[in-house]
Amino acid sequence: MIKKIEHIGIAVKNLNDSNALFKKLFGKDHYKVEAVASEGVSTSFFMLGETKIELLEATSENSAIAKFIEKKGEGIHHIAYEVDNLDAEMARLKHEGFELINPTPKDGADNKRICFLHPKTTNGVLVELCEEKK
Ligand code: ZN
Repeated sequence: MIKKIEHIGIAVKNLNDSNALFKKLFGKDHYKVEAVASEGVSTSFFMLGETKIELLEATSENSAIAKFIEKKGEGIHHIAYEVDNLDAEMARLKHEGFELINPTPKDGADNKRICFLHPKTTNGVLVELCEEKK
């Protein structure tokens, strides 16, 4: 079951500059910075009530974030939904005709197991499903 919006991911060119910008916007600082080497990104997280904002900067020119910024510029990259059972949700959504970008769960930032749904099957919005690692 999809429970709530866990975070919104925003692609940025420079994480330090954007941390300062979003600190001004929110009136509070990010609570963590985390590199995800396998994805070629460095991330930071801001807590806003029950939801988070994740900023993503490419650390490799082959990363999905580098390609996204090259094509579309900075901006909203994905919406992440928290699920209670990632494997069951992946099976359900695959059965419903959504395309899973990664057919098996992978490790994401912020202690999560994640799966992405291809935007061509979700009205152009890259969807991340995430489950807190136990
Ligand atoms: Zn994310």
